[in-house]
Amino acid sequence: MAGEAQDEGAAGGGQPAREGSSPGAGTAQGAVAACRPVNWAGNIRYTAEQLHRPASLDALRARVAKSRQVRVLGSGHTFNRLADTDTSRGALISLAGLPPVTEVDTAARTVRVGGGVRYAELAAHVHRRGLALAAMASLPHISVAGAVATGSHGSGNTTPPLSAAVREVELVTADGSPAVVRRGEPGFEAAVVSLGALGVVTALTLDLEPAYEVEGHVFDGFPMAELATDSDVEAVTGSASSVSLFTDWRAPRWTQVWLKRRCDGPEVRFPWSAPVTEQRHPVLGRAGANCTVQGGVPGPWYERLPHFRPEFTPSSGAELQSEYLLPRTETRPALAALAEVRAAVAPALQVCEVRTVAGDDQWLSPAYGRDSLAIHFTWTPKLPLVRVAVAAVEEALAPFAARPHWGKVFGLSHQRLRSAHPRLSDFARAASRWDAGGKFRNDFLRTVLGG
Ligand SMILES: Cc1cc2nc3c(=O)[nH]c(=O)nc-3n(C[C@H](O)[C@H](O)[C@H](O)COP(=O)(O)OP(=O)(O)OC[C@H]3O[C@@H](n4cnc5c(N)ncnc54)[C@H](O)[C@@H]3O)c2cc1C
Repeated sequence: MAGEAQDEGAAGGGQPAREGSSPGAGTAQGAVAACRPVNWAGNIRYTAEQLHRPASLDALRARVAKSRQVRVLGSGHTFNRLADTDTSRGALISLAGLPPVTEVDTAARTVRVGGGVRYAELAAHVHRRGLALAAMASLPHISVAGAVATGSHGSGNTTPPLSAAVREVELVTADGSPAVVRRGEPGFEAAVVSLGALGVVTALTLDLEPAYEVEGHVFDGFPMAELATDSDVEAVTGSASSVSLFTDWRAPRWTQVWLKRRCDGPEVRFPWSAPVTEQRHPVLGRAGANCTVQGGVPGPWYERLPHFRPEFTPSSGAELQSEYLLPRTETRPALAALAEVRAAVAPALQVCEVRTVAGDDQWLSPAYGRDSLAIHFTWTPKLPLVRVAVAAVEEALAPFAARPHWGKVFGLSHQRLRSAHPRLSDFARAASRWDAGGKFRNDFLRTVLGG
Protein backbone atom coordinates (compact mmCIF):
# COMPACT_ATOMS: atom_id res chain seq x y z
CA MET A 1 0.00 0.00 0.00
CA ALA A 2 1.10 3.56 -0.57
CA GLY A 3 1.13 4.59 3.03
CA GLU A 4 2.67 1.21 3.83
CA ALA A 5 4.97 3.07 6.17
CA GLN A 6 2.45 2.33 8.88
CA ASP A 7 4.30 -0.86 9.64
CA GLU A 8 6.97 1.31 11.15
CA GLY A 9 5.67 1.54 14.68
CA ALA A 10 2.10 1.37 15.85
CA ALA A 11 -0.27 3.83 14.29
CA GLY A 12 -1.41 6.19 16.95
CA GLY A 13 1.78 5.58 18.91
CA GLY A 14 4.99 7.57 18.61
CA GLN A 15 5.19 11.25 19.33
CA PRO A 16 3.14 12.87 16.66
CA ALA A 17 2.96 16.51 15.72
CA ARG A 18 -0.01 17.44 17.88
CA GLU A 19 -2.29 20.40 17.94
CA GLY A 20 -0.68 23.79 18.22
CA SER A 21 2.76 22.44 17.37
CA SER A 22 4.48 22.12 14.06
CA PRO A 23 6.63 19.14 13.31
CA GLY A 24 9.97 20.01 14.79
CA ALA A 25 8.51 22.88 16.81
CA GLY A 26 10.55 23.92 19.78
CA THR A 27 13.80 24.27 17.88
CA ALA A 28 15.35 27.69 17.62
CA GLN A 29 14.40 29.67 14.53
CA GLY A 30 16.48 28.62 11.60
CA ALA A 31 17.78 25.66 13.52
CA VAL A 32 17.83 22.03 12.65
CA ALA A 33 15.88 19.49 14.70
CA ALA A 34 18.12 16.49 15.23
CA CYS A 35 15.46 13.87 15.97
CA ARG A 36 13.37 12.35 13.21
CA PRO A 37 9.87 13.87 13.31
CA VAL A 38 6.67 11.84 13.37
CA ASN A 39 3.40 12.63 11.57
CA TRP A 40 0.18 13.62 13.37
CA ALA A 41 -1.18 10.08 13.40
CA GLY A 42 2.09 8.65 14.75
CA ASN A 43 2.25 5.99 12.02
CA ILE A 44 5.11 7.59 10.05
CA ARG A 45 8.55 8.40 11.36
CA TYR A 46 10.15 10.47 8.60
CA THR A 47 13.40 9.16 7.17
CA ALA A 48 15.46 12.38 7.21
CA GLU A 49 17.91 12.69 10.07
CA GLN A 50 17.24 16.40 10.37
CA LEU A 51 14.27 18.72 10.02
CA HIS A 52 15.43 22.07 8.63
CA ARG A 53 13.55 25.18 9.75
CA PRO A 54 14.91 28.13 7.76
CA ALA A 55 14.12 31.48 9.36
CA SER A 56 14.17 33.52 6.15
CA LEU A 57 13.38 33.13 2.47
CA ASP A 58 17.08 33.51 1.64
CA ALA A 59 17.99 30.70 4.04
CA LEU A 60 15.29 28.52 2.47
CA ARG A 61 16.55 29.25 -1.05
CA ALA A 62 20.13 28.43 -0.03
CA ARG A 63 19.02 25.18 1.62
CA VAL A 64 17.06 24.10 -1.47
CA ALA A 65 19.90 25.03 -3.85
CA LYS A 66 22.50 22.97 -2.00
CA SER A 67 20.38 19.89 -1.19
CA ARG A 68 20.23 16.80 -3.40
CA GLN A 69 16.71 15.88 -2.33
CA VAL A 70 14.08 18.16 -0.79
CA ARG A 71 10.63 17.46 0.64
CA VAL A 72 8.53 19.93 2.61
CA LEU A 73 6.71 18.92 5.75
CA GLY A 74 3.55 20.99 6.37
CA SER A 75 1.61 20.29 9.54
CA GLY A 76 2.13 16.52 9.17
CA HIS A 77 -1.52 15.44 8.92
CA THR A 78 -0.86 13.12 5.99
CA PHE A 79 -1.14 9.38 6.69
CA ASN A 80 1.44 8.16 4.15
CA ARG A 81 5.01 8.85 2.98
CA LEU A 82 4.11 11.62 0.54
CA ALA A 83 6.12 14.22 2.50
CA ASP A 84 9.08 11.94 3.17
CA THR A 85 12.63 11.90 1.83
CA ASP A 86 14.07 8.65 0.47
CA THR A 87 17.19 8.67 2.62
CA SER A 88 18.28 10.00 5.97
CA ARG A 89 20.42 12.61 4.19
CA GLY A 90 17.53 14.14 2.24
CA ALA A 91 16.45 17.64 3.32
CA LEU A 92 13.07 17.63 5.06
CA ILE A 93 12.09 21.27 5.42
CA SER A 94 9.48 22.90 7.64
CA LEU A 95 8.40 26.47 6.85
CA ALA A 96 7.13 27.00 10.40
CA GLY A 97 10.18 29.18 11.15
CA LEU A 98 9.45 31.66 8.34
CA PRO A 99 7.55 34.86 9.17
CA PRO A 100 3.83 33.86 9.24
CA VAL A 101 2.60 36.03 6.35
CA THR A 102 -1.16 36.71 6.14
CA GLU A 103 -1.63 39.86 4.03
CA VAL A 104 -5.27 40.70 3.37
CA ASP A 105 -6.23 42.95 0.45
CA THR A 106 -9.69 44.02 1.54
CA ALA A 107 -10.55 45.78 -1.73
CA ALA A 108 -9.48 42.87 -3.94
CA ARG A 109 -10.89 40.34 -1.42
CA THR A 110 -7.73 38.24 -1.42
CA VAL A 111 -5.21 37.06 1.13
CA ARG A 112 -1.55 36.20 0.57
CA VAL A 113 -0.69 33.44 3.03
CA GLY A 114 2.76 32.05 3.86
CA GLY A 115 3.67 28.44 3.11
CA GLY A 116 3.76 27.44 6.80
CA VAL A 117 0.48 29.01 7.97
CA ARG A 118 -2.43 26.87 9.18
CA TYR A 119 -6.12 27.42 8.44
CA ALA A 120 -6.90 28.22 12.11
CA GLU A 121 -4.56 31.26 12.06
CA LEU A 122 -5.57 32.31 8.55
CA ALA A 123 -9.32 32.08 9.20
CA ALA A 124 -9.32 34.17 12.37
CA HIS A 125 -7.16 36.77 10.62
CA VAL A 126 -9.36 37.23 7.55
CA HIS A 127 -12.56 37.13 9.64
CA ARG A 128 -11.31 40.11 11.66
CA ARG A 129 -11.25 41.99 8.35
CA GLY A 130 -14.84 41.03 7.52
CA LEU A 131 -13.86 38.36 4.98
CA ALA A 132 -14.14 34.60 4.64
CA LEU A 133 -13.04 31.49 2.78
CA ALA A 134 -15.69 29.64 0.79
CA ALA A 135 -14.79 26.26 2.32
CA MET A 136 -12.79 24.53 5.03
CA ALA A 137 -11.84 20.90 5.69
CA SER A 138 -13.13 19.08 8.78
CA LEU A 139 -10.26 20.44 10.84
CA PRO A 140 -8.54 23.87 10.95
CA HIS A 141 -5.25 22.44 12.28
CA ILE A 142 -3.76 21.71 8.83
CA SER A 143 -1.39 23.94 6.87
CA VAL A 144 -2.92 25.74 3.90
CA ALA A 145 -0.07 24.79 1.54
CA GLY A 146 -0.15 21.13 2.61
CA ALA A 147 -3.93 20.88 2.32
CA VAL A 148 -4.15 22.33 -1.19
CA ALA A 149 -1.11 20.30 -2.31
CA THR A 150 -3.09 17.08 -1.71
CA GLY A 151 -6.45 18.30 -3.09
CA SER A 152 -8.09 18.46 0.35
CA HIS A 153 -11.74 19.46 0.41
CA GLY A 154 -14.70 20.42 2.55
CA SER A 155 -18.22 19.54 1.56
CA GLY A 156 -21.14 20.70 -0.59
CA ASN A 157 -22.77 19.99 -3.95
CA THR A 158 -21.50 23.34 -5.24
CA THR A 159 -18.31 23.57 -3.14
CA PRO A 160 -15.07 22.69 -4.98
CA PRO A 161 -11.89 21.59 -3.14
CA LEU A 162 -9.87 24.10 -1.09
CA SER A 163 -7.44 24.48 -4.01
CA ALA A 164 -10.17 26.28 -6.00
CA ALA A 165 -9.57 29.40 -3.89
CA VAL A 166 -5.93 29.64 -5.03
CA ARG A 167 -5.20 32.37 -7.59
CA GLU A 168 -1.43 32.60 -7.30
CA VAL A 169 1.36 30.23 -6.20
CA GLU A 170 4.84 31.44 -5.16
CA LEU A 171 7.54 28.79 -5.23
CA VAL A 172 11.21 28.21 -4.64
CA THR A 173 12.34 25.95 -7.47
CA ALA A 174 15.05 23.28 -7.58
CA ASP A 175 17.98 25.66 -8.11
CA GLY A 176 16.76 27.93 -5.31
CA SER A 177 15.28 30.58 -7.56
CA PRO A 178 11.77 32.00 -7.01
CA ALA A 179 8.83 31.58 -9.42
CA VAL A 180 5.21 32.68 -9.51
CA VAL A 181 2.32 30.98 -11.33
CA ARG A 182 -1.04 32.74 -11.63
CA ARG A 183 -4.50 31.43 -12.43
CA GLY A 184 -4.94 31.48 -16.21
CA GLU A 185 -1.21 31.08 -16.93
CA PRO A 186 0.23 27.90 -18.49
CA GLY A 187 1.10 25.34 -15.82
CA PHE A 188 -1.35 26.63 -13.24
CA GLU A 189 -3.41 23.40 -13.42
CA ALA A 190 -0.37 21.49 -12.13
CA ALA A 191 0.91 24.05 -9.64
CA VAL A 192 -1.72 23.99 -6.89
CA VAL A 193 -2.52 20.32 -6.29
CA SER A 194 1.17 19.60 -6.77
CA LEU A 195 1.98 16.98 -4.10
CA GLY A 196 5.04 19.11 -3.39
CA ALA A 197 6.59 17.90 -6.67
CA LEU A 198 7.26 21.27 -8.34
CA GLY A 199 9.06 23.12 -5.57
CA VAL A 200 8.63 24.67 -2.14
CA VAL A 201 5.44 26.74 -1.95
CA THR A 202 6.40 29.87 -0.04
CA ALA A 203 3.07 31.70 -0.40
CA LEU A 204 -0.40 31.31 -1.89
CA THR A 205 -2.87 34.05 -2.77
CA LEU A 206 -6.45 32.99 -2.09
CA ASP A 207 -9.85 34.36 -3.07
CA LEU A 208 -12.04 35.58 -0.22
CA GLU A 209 -15.65 36.63 0.06
CA PRO A 210 -17.61 38.69 2.59
CA ALA A 211 -17.80 37.02 6.02
CA TYR A 212 -20.93 34.95 6.62
CA GLU A 213 -22.50 32.92 9.38
CA VAL A 214 -23.22 29.19 9.45
CA GLU A 215 -25.46 26.94 11.56
CA GLY A 216 -24.59 23.31 12.32
CA HIS A 217 -27.50 20.85 12.61
CA VAL A 218 -27.31 17.14 13.46
CA PHE A 219 -30.01 14.65 12.55
CA ASP A 220 -30.54 11.02 13.51
CA GLY A 221 -29.66 8.37 10.96
CA PHE A 222 -31.93 6.57 8.54
CA PRO A 223 -31.74 3.45 6.31
CA MET A 224 -29.64 3.81 3.15
CA ALA A 225 -32.53 2.27 1.21
CA GLU A 226 -34.29 5.61 1.53
CA LEU A 227 -31.85 6.95 -1.08
CA ALA A 228 -33.87 5.00 -3.64
CA THR A 229 -33.40 7.30 -6.64
CA ASP A 230 -30.81 9.75 -7.92
CA SER A 231 -33.16 12.60 -7.10
CA ASP A 232 -33.28 11.35 -3.46
CA VAL A 233 -29.48 11.58 -3.43
CA GLU A 234 -29.58 15.11 -4.82
CA ALA A 235 -32.27 16.13 -2.32
CA VAL A 236 -30.34 14.80 0.69
CA THR A 237 -26.91 16.07 -0.36
CA GLY A 238 -28.47 19.40 -1.37
CA SER A 239 -30.43 19.86 1.85
CA ALA A 240 -27.80 22.31 3.19
CA SER A 241 -24.64 23.99 1.91
CA SER A 242 -22.60 21.15 3.43
CA VAL A 243 -23.90 17.66 4.18
CA SER A 244 -22.07 14.77 5.87
CA LEU A 245 -23.64 11.31 6.05
CA PHE A 246 -22.03 9.00 8.61
CA THR A 247 -22.17 5.21 8.83
CA ASP A 248 -20.31 2.45 10.68
CA TRP A 249 -21.18 -0.09 7.92
CA ARG A 250 -22.41 -2.49 10.59
CA ALA A 251 -25.67 -2.20 8.69
CA PRO A 252 -26.62 -0.33 5.48
CA ARG A 253 -27.84 2.71 7.41
CA TRP A 254 -26.69 6.22 8.13
CA THR A 255 -25.92 6.54 11.84
CA GLN A 256 -26.26 10.35 11.79
CA VAL A 257 -26.32 13.29 9.38
CA TRP A 258 -24.54 16.62 9.86
CA LEU A 259 -25.76 19.68 7.98
CA LYS A 260 -24.00 23.04 7.82
CA ARG A 261 -26.27 25.81 6.58
CA ARG A 262 -24.99 29.17 5.42
CA CYS A 263 -27.30 31.67 7.11
CA ASP A 264 -27.43 33.68 3.86
CA GLY A 265 -28.87 30.59 2.08
CA PRO A 266 -32.13 28.61 2.18
CA GLU A 267 -33.52 27.08 5.39
CA VAL A 268 -32.62 23.47 6.20
CA ARG A 269 -35.27 21.01 5.06
CA PHE A 270 -34.53 17.50 6.26
CA PRO A 271 -37.68 15.34 6.43
CA TRP A 272 -35.80 12.01 6.49
CA SER A 273 -35.12 11.91 10.26
CA ALA A 274 -35.38 13.81 13.53
CA PRO A 275 -33.01 16.57 14.72
CA VAL A 276 -30.65 15.76 17.59
CA THR A 277 -30.45 18.15 20.52
CA GLU A 278 -27.19 17.12 22.24
CA GLN A 279 -23.68 17.92 20.92
CA ARG A 280 -22.42 14.92 18.88
CA HIS A 281 -19.11 13.43 17.67
CA PRO A 282 -18.92 11.67 14.27
CA VAL A 283 -18.06 8.44 16.13
CA LEU A 284 -21.24 7.67 18.08
CA GLY A 285 -20.63 7.43 21.82
CA ARG A 286 -17.64 9.79 21.83
CA ALA A 287 -17.91 13.14 23.56
CA GLY A 288 -18.96 15.95 21.24
CA ALA A 289 -17.02 18.57 23.20
CA ASN A 290 -14.13 18.73 20.69
CA CYS A 291 -16.61 19.37 17.86
CA THR A 292 -17.75 22.77 16.62
CA VAL A 293 -21.07 24.06 17.97
CA GLN A 294 -24.17 22.29 16.65
CA GLY A 295 -27.88 22.67 17.52
CA GLY A 296 -28.54 25.29 14.85
CA VAL A 297 -26.73 28.07 16.75
CA PRO A 298 -25.40 30.58 14.17
CA GLY A 299 -21.72 31.45 14.36
CA PRO A 300 -18.83 32.72 12.22
CA TRP A 301 -18.08 30.55 9.19
CA TYR A 302 -14.67 29.38 10.49
CA GLU A 303 -16.16 28.23 13.81
CA ARG A 304 -18.84 26.12 12.11
CA LEU A 305 -17.56 24.77 8.75
CA PRO A 306 -14.90 22.47 10.31
CA HIS A 307 -16.22 19.56 12.37
CA PHE A 308 -13.48 19.96 14.99
CA ARG A 309 -12.40 22.88 17.17
CA PRO A 310 -8.79 24.09 16.83
CA GLU A 311 -7.98 23.82 20.55
CA PHE A 312 -8.80 20.09 20.72
CA THR A 313 -7.52 16.94 19.05
CA PRO A 314 -9.63 16.50 15.91
CA SER A 315 -11.35 13.27 14.95
CA SER A 316 -10.51 10.36 17.24
CA GLY A 317 -6.72 10.87 17.44
CA ALA A 318 -5.70 7.18 17.33
CA GLU A 319 -6.55 6.39 13.72
CA LEU A 320 -5.63 5.94 10.10
CA GLN A 321 -7.69 7.37 7.24
CA SER A 322 -8.51 6.56 3.61
CA GLU A 323 -10.80 8.37 1.18
CA TYR A 324 -11.96 7.90 -2.41
CA LEU A 325 -13.69 10.34 -4.75
CA LEU A 326 -15.90 9.09 -7.58
CA PRO A 327 -18.48 10.63 -9.93
CA ARG A 328 -21.52 11.78 -7.98
CA THR A 329 -23.77 10.14 -10.56
CA GLU A 330 -22.45 6.79 -9.25
CA THR A 331 -23.55 7.41 -5.65
CA ARG A 332 -26.18 4.68 -5.36
CA PRO A 333 -24.25 1.85 -7.12
CA ALA A 334 -21.07 2.78 -5.23
CA LEU A 335 -22.85 2.64 -1.86
CA ALA A 336 -24.45 -0.68 -2.88
CA ALA A 337 -20.99 -2.04 -3.78
CA LEU A 338 -19.62 -0.97 -0.38
CA ALA A 339 -22.58 -2.57 1.39
CA GLU A 340 -21.52 -5.86 -0.25
CA VAL A 341 -18.09 -5.71 1.43
CA ARG A 342 -19.12 -4.26 4.77
CA ALA A 343 -18.10 -7.47 6.60
CA ALA A 344 -14.47 -6.69 5.63
CA VAL A 345 -14.80 -2.96 6.27
CA ALA A 346 -16.69 -2.72 9.58
CA PRO A 347 -14.07 -4.44 11.82
CA ALA A 348 -11.43 -1.84 10.83
CA LEU A 349 -13.76 1.13 10.92
CA GLN A 350 -14.38 3.88 13.44
CA VAL A 351 -16.62 5.84 11.11
CA CYS A 352 -17.25 6.39 7.39
CA GLU A 353 -18.27 9.86 6.20
CA VAL A 354 -19.87 10.54 2.82
CA ARG A 355 -19.76 14.09 1.44
CA THR A 356 -20.08 15.77 -1.94
CA VAL A 357 -17.48 17.97 -3.67
CA ALA A 358 -17.93 20.06 -6.81
CA GLY A 359 -15.57 19.35 -9.72
CA ASP A 360 -12.49 21.50 -10.37
CA ASP A 361 -9.73 21.79 -12.96
CA GLN A 362 -6.51 21.02 -11.10
CA TRP A 363 -5.01 18.05 -12.98
CA LEU A 364 -4.25 15.97 -9.89
CA SER A 365 -7.31 16.96 -7.90
CA PRO A 366 -9.36 13.91 -6.91
CA ALA A 367 -12.38 16.00 -8.02
CA TYR A 368 -10.81 16.92 -11.40
CA GLY A 369 -13.46 17.37 -14.08
CA ARG A 370 -16.32 15.76 -12.20
CA ASP A 371 -18.77 16.60 -9.46
CA SER A 372 -17.80 14.01 -6.90
CA LEU A 373 -18.91 11.85 -4.03
CA ALA A 374 -16.17 11.63 -1.36
CA ILE A 375 -16.28 8.44 0.73
CA HIS A 376 -14.01 8.77 3.74
CA PHE A 377 -12.98 6.08 6.25
CA THR A 378 -11.60 6.75 9.72
CA TRP A 379 -9.97 3.42 10.53
CA THR A 380 -8.83 1.99 13.84
CA PRO A 381 -5.02 2.11 14.05
CA LYS A 382 -4.78 -1.68 13.53
CA LEU A 383 -2.87 -2.11 10.31
CA PRO A 384 -3.72 -5.78 9.52
CA LEU A 385 -7.46 -4.98 9.67
CA VAL A 386 -6.96 -1.77 7.70
CA ARG A 387 -5.10 -3.62 4.93
CA VAL A 388 -8.00 -6.03 4.47
CA ALA A 389 -10.56 -3.22 4.55
CA VAL A 390 -8.66 -0.97 2.11
CA ALA A 391 -8.27 -3.83 -0.37
CA ALA A 392 -12.01 -4.60 -0.12
CA VAL A 393 -12.98 -0.95 -0.59
CA GLU A 394 -10.67 -0.49 -3.60
CA GLU A 395 -12.03 -3.64 -5.23
CA ALA A 396 -15.63 -2.57 -4.59
CA LEU A 397 -15.03 0.93 -5.97
CA ALA A 398 -12.96 -0.19 -9.00
CA PRO A 399 -15.89 0.06 -11.47
CA PHE A 400 -16.35 3.74 -10.56
CA ALA A 401 -12.83 5.02 -11.38
CA ALA A 402 -12.43 6.03 -7.74
CA ARG A 403 -9.51 8.37 -7.03
CA PRO A 404 -7.77 8.22 -3.64
CA HIS A 405 -7.15 11.22 -1.41
CA TRP A 406 -3.40 11.77 -1.87
CA GLY A 407 -2.83 12.37 1.83
CA LYS A 408 -4.39 9.15 3.10
CA VAL A 409 -3.78 5.39 3.01
CA PHE A 410 -4.37 3.70 -0.35
CA GLY A 411 -3.04 0.75 -2.33
CA LEU A 412 -3.90 1.55 -5.95
CA SER A 413 -1.19 0.83 -8.53
CA HIS A 414 0.16 3.41 -10.99
CA GLN A 415 -1.95 1.76 -13.72
CA ARG A 416 -5.15 2.07 -11.69
CA LEU A 417 -4.29 5.67 -10.80
CA ARG A 418 -3.59 6.50 -14.44
CA SER A 419 -6.92 5.13 -15.62
CA ALA A 420 -8.77 7.10 -12.92
CA HIS A 421 -6.76 10.33 -13.37
CA PRO A 422 -6.81 11.42 -17.06
CA ARG A 423 -4.16 14.11 -16.50
CA LEU A 424 -1.69 12.07 -14.40
CA SER A 425 0.81 11.81 -17.25
CA ASP A 426 0.43 15.53 -18.07
CA PHE A 427 1.18 16.30 -14.44
CA ALA A 428 4.24 14.02 -14.45
CA ARG A 429 5.59 15.83 -17.55
CA ALA A 430 4.95 19.24 -15.98
CA ALA A 431 6.72 18.16 -12.79
CA SER A 432 9.72 16.99 -14.83
CA ARG A 433 9.88 20.35 -16.62
CA TRP A 434 9.89 22.21 -13.29
CA ASP A 435 12.31 19.82 -11.64
CA ALA A 436 14.37 18.10 -14.33
CA GLY A 437 16.79 16.59 -11.83
CA GLY A 438 14.03 15.11 -9.66
CA LYS A 439 15.09 16.98 -6.50
CA PHE A 440 11.49 17.05 -5.21
CA ARG A 441 10.67 13.44 -6.21
CA ASN A 442 10.56 10.67 -3.65
CA ASP A 443 9.74 6.96 -3.81
CA PHE A 444 6.07 7.69 -3.11
CA LEU A 445 5.85 10.07 -6.08
CA ARG A 446 7.72 7.69 -8.38
CA THR A 447 5.17 4.97 -7.50
CA VAL A 448 2.23 7.29 -8.08
CA LEU A 449 3.48 9.08 -11.19
CA GLY A 450 5.34 6.14 -12.72
CA GLY A 451 9.01 6.05 -13.68
C1 LIG B 1 -7.97 14.44 11.61
C2 LIG B 1 -7.85 14.73 10.14
C3 LIG B 1 -8.95 15.20 9.44
C4 LIG B 1 -8.84 15.47 8.06
N1 LIG B 1 -9.93 15.99 7.41
C5 LIG B 1 -9.86 16.22 6.08
C6 LIG B 1 -10.97 16.75 5.37
O1 LIG B 1 -11.98 17.14 5.93
N2 LIG B 1 -10.85 16.89 4.01
C7 LIG B 1 -9.72 16.51 3.34
O2 LIG B 1 -9.70 16.60 2.12
N3 LIG B 1 -8.63 16.05 4.00
C8 LIG B 1 -8.68 15.90 5.35
N4 LIG B 1 -7.58 15.44 6.01
C9 LIG B 1 -6.33 15.21 5.26
C10 LIG B 1 -5.46 16.45 5.20
O3 LIG B 1 -6.19 17.56 4.72
C11 LIG B 1 -4.28 16.23 4.25
O4 LIG B 1 -3.53 15.14 4.64
C12 LIG B 1 -3.39 17.48 4.12
O5 LIG B 1 -2.46 17.26 3.09
C13 LIG B 1 -2.68 17.79 5.39
O6 LIG B 1 -1.81 18.87 5.22
P1 LIG B 1 -0.45 18.93 6.08
O7 LIG B 1 0.27 20.16 5.80
O8 LIG B 1 -0.79 18.62 7.50
O9 LIG B 1 0.24 17.63 5.48
P2 LIG B 1 1.77 17.28 5.22
O10 LIG B 1 1.84 15.79 5.30
O11 LIG B 1 2.67 18.03 6.10
O12 LIG B 1 1.95 17.72 3.71
C14 LIG B 1 1.13 17.21 2.69
C15 LIG B 1 1.82 17.37 1.34
O13 LIG B 1 1.97 18.74 1.05
C16 LIG B 1 3.34 19.03 0.80
N5 LIG B 1 3.60 20.36 1.32
C17 LIG B 1 3.25 20.86 2.51
N6 LIG B 1 3.61 22.14 2.61
C18 LIG B 1 4.24 22.45 1.44
C19 LIG B 1 4.87 23.61 0.92
N7 LIG B 1 4.92 24.73 1.62
N8 LIG B 1 5.44 23.54 -0.30
C20 LIG B 1 5.39 22.40 -1.03
N9 LIG B 1 4.79 21.28 -0.60
C21 LIG B 1 4.22 21.30 0.64
C22 LIG B 1 4.12 17.94 1.52
O14 LIG B 1 5.40 17.75 0.94
C23 LIG B 1 3.22 16.77 1.28
O15 LIG B 1 3.46 16.28 -0.01
C24 LIG B 1 -7.63 15.20 7.39
C25 LIG B 1 -6.51 14.74 8.10
C26 LIG B 1 -6.61 14.52 9.46
C27 LIG B 1 -5.41 14.04 10.21
